[in-house]
Amino acid sequence: MPATEVATYDGYFNTSQECWSVFTEVIGAEFSNAALFGKVHQLTVDAYAVQHAGGRHPDKSVFIHLTGLHLVLERGIPPPPVAPYLQQLATRVRDWPHFDPPSVVWPLTIFDVAMADDHAAAVREWSAGVWAGWGTRHEAIAQLVAAYLDR
Ligand SMILES: [Zn+2]
Repeated sequence: MPATEVATYDGYFNTSQECWSVFTEVIGAEFSNAALFGKVHQLTVDAYAVQHAGGRHPDKSVFIHLTGLHLVLERGIPPPPVAPYLQQLATRVRDWPHFDPPSVVWPLTIFDVAMADDHAAAVREWSAGVWAGWGTRHEAIAQLVAAYLDR
């Protein structure tokens, strides 16, 4: 897994022990299946991260992972090249906006992915719900991404 990803797994997500262990189970399944990894791993990491904003979760991480969802779900970029984009963004932005977690009831969580027969389809549905939950920030994200990545 890319070095930037390792840095996001250090436990500062605003999560519970139980939820975190389900997450590690889900990404374990992805790491052991190359096709599945390529299809959905980026979405899994990004959706999980931004569904666990708040608390000690740094602004930079929340923003980077929202950008991952923006690139895949809004722009239709396939997941594998997203990590290098996010790395570029991480080195270019100096002031990260603070986004409070949205007050929404999430339609799905990592638990639904863990229980699903079709892992990839479940990740797509779950991550789309997470992205929709952050709807009030879509415009701000699109603007910052355009300012930093599209030049
Ligand atoms: Zn959780």
